[in-house]
Amino acid sequence: MRILIIEDETKTSNFLSKGLKENGFTVDTACNGIDGLNALEQNSYDLAILDIMLPLLDGWSVLSTLRNKDIQTRVLLLTARDSIEDRVKGLELGADDYLVKPFAFSELLARIRTLLRRGTAAEIQKIQCADMEIDAIKHRVTRKGVRIDLTPKEFQLLLLLARHPGEVFSRTVIAEQIWDMNFDSDTNVVDVAIRRLRNKVDDSFEDKLIHTIRGVGYAFEQRS
Ligand code: CA
Repeated sequence: MRILIIEDETKTSNFLSKGLKENGFTVDTACNGIDGLNALEQNSYDLAILDIMLPLLDGWSVLSTLRNKDIQTRVLLLTARDSIEDRVKGLELGADDYLVKPFAFSELLARIRTLLRRGTAAEIQKIQCADMEIDAIKHRVTRKGVRIDLTPKEFQLLLLLARHPGEVFSRTVIAEQIWDMNFDSDTNVVDVAIRRLRNKVDDSFEDKLIHTIRGVGYAFEQRS
């Protein structure tokens, strides 16, 4: 497995490079956006770790240029700014995942392994489950071909669950991911949002896709 690290902070880049090599990956590095983009265009990588704040060309531009050229290398964004807007922007531009700095190397490694196991962003841009179709880029949801209107938050919530079918998300995790709230916030907002979402996407359909896991949280999957 070959990984490209695009990161201008030498310390971080060396640390990542060393750790990944120790874990059996082949690693190349680029220290600015232009070099990174060139490397991605010229070589075939299984994954790129892309910092957002980069000299010459920032991570956003690298990512959008890459996707515009239809290069579907998996991209893990590194962001120092922990805002939901950044995450959504990153995913919309075609990133496969993101990690907020500072992070533990073990967390990075876990994310990389998950990413390498699953398909690329383009493959999961369209999610199909039972009669539901979700287009992550166009922000469209249909069931039986009929469009369902969701608010941006409802859409993010559905996408979060649907991208990981069968995986249980706790209220805490959902609150963090969608509302940027920390664990001690009132997670009741999650229940309310789930109820509204279900009302739109599940209630009038036989096949229920959003499930309550008692005492744990919520999961999305086809069960019948
Ligand atoms: Ca940087």
